[in-house]
Amino acid sequence: MTYDVINPATEKVVRTVEPADEAQTDAAIARAAKAFETWRNVTPADRGRLLRRFADAVDADLDHLAALEVENAGHTIGNARWEAGNVRDVLTYYAAAPERLFGKQIPVAGGIDVTFQEPLGVVGVIVPWNFPMPIAGWGFAPALAAGNTVVLKPAELTPLTAIRLGELALQAGLPADVFQVLPGAGKVVGQRFVTNPAVRKVVFTGSTAVGKQIMAGCADQVKRVTLELGGKSANIVFADADLAKAAAQAPYGVFDNAGQDCCARSRILVERTAYDRFLELLEPAVKAFKVGDPSDPATEMGPLISRQQLDRVASYVENPAFQGSAPSGPGFWFPPTVLEHVVPDEIFGPVVSVVPFTDEADAVRQANDSEYGLSGSIWTRDVGRALRVSRGVEAGNLSVNSNSSVRYSTPFGGYKQSGLGRELGPDALDAFTETKNIFISTED
Ligand code: NAP
Ligand code: MG
Repeated sequence: MTYDVINPATEKVVRTVEPADEAQTDAAIARAAKAFETWRNVTPADRGRLLRRFADAVDADLDHLAALEVENAGHTIGNARWEAGNVRDVLTYYAAAPERLFGKQIPVAGGIDVTFQEPLGVVGVIVPWNFPMPIAGWGFAPALAAGNTVVLKPAELTPLTAIRLGELALQAGLPADVFQVLPGAGKVVGQRFVTNPAVRKVVFTGSTAVGKQIMAGCADQVKRVTLELGGKSANIVFADADLAKAAAQAPYGVFDNAGQDCCARSRILVERTAYDRFLELLEPAVKAFKVGDPSDPATEMGPLISRQQLDRVASYVENPAFQGSAPSGPGFWFPPTVLEHVVPDEIFGPVVSVVPFTDEADAVRQANDSEYGLSGSIWTRDVGRALRVSRGVEAGNLSVNSNSSVRYSTPFGGYKQSGLGRELGPDALDAFTETKNIFISTED
């Protein structure tokens, strides 16, 4: 039984896709377990070389991958090109890892002691629809580099770029079954990654509700798990900041990808003395935000992913302070929207709350008044305050005088219910290996 993949900007069918069923998922996992026996023994230099070839194949296909994502996910062409480039860069970065997967030599009595970072086996990666390419790459690239084999489930709504990445891996010379892409339902394919004992680790990105189920399911086998979940991040603007810059950049910090971003700065906290001035500066920036055809390079925001997501986002919006514009007609469009009250849920749409705070302590208290803790920003010209507030906010990724959270060479992940573990950065392979300790006696 195939199903239709829809273009969210036009509501037209892009392609029909065949989802994997439970038996096909189990068969793929069994093939991945078999492939692990050879992949783990490929020399570090050769594993690195194959990952660099995979990166080159992604680079050569970048325009095609980007166009696919514009059609399938409604991402702006500028974003989609960045996303395909991110997969290439993450592969290149971790292609250097196999030859640098160092253990330790630890001084002990009576011999020598060394540690090895051993691969886990089959890793299952479950990807959401908001960033189909980057989130896939953050899982599969370090997992493969460490010597694991990977089964990857894209979101049902957005499988096309993941399917293409699977083809590119084979073209690049990765052995069969080392990296398999299995489109299908979360409750079928994703659930099997949790329950099939041959899968030794699950990497999940998505909603906190499903993340909790995955964690509970993995507990049954003490299966390793990394979770990247929701967010309700604060963008804290002090009165001493460059207000014009903070206001001009705030829309990009929350409306990028139509707000369907776990790092979206969906709460702007503004020092009370600068509050009115900040809103005056924000309003024209929101109204000028270009929403429309995602394939037009001038467009800054496309549609939401689905009718269901549009209805969900709309249900949160009451008494907006002001709104930008959005196309009418077919497509799942919602305008950039500013509220002057906080909605505690993660809205996952182009909706931002602006609220005042009184002083530094109040700013930190409000920022932390959330079950989430993924990212956030601090705008101030006072370096000491920037550091104090950064240290005080319970979140994994903070930026000062900037709204950017993601770099492949730095760690990414959440506090509290935003997740468990870290992805990217120099230590990513820790999450895809077991430490093995070996003592060798030197006694006669
Ligand atoms: P979701 O249900 O958590 O889906 C994320 C991924 O998990 C998808 O691949 C999904 O497959 C799969 N999945 C669903 N149920 C599963 C299960 N029982 N076992 C294993 N895998 C399962 O997220 P959603 O429903 O698409 O989005 C709902 C809300 O979650 C959003 O509005 C947003 O608030 C949040 N969200 C957060 C992120 C993030 O980056 N942190 C990403 C997406 C969504 P299917 O596609 O087949 O359902
Ligand atoms: Mg769901």
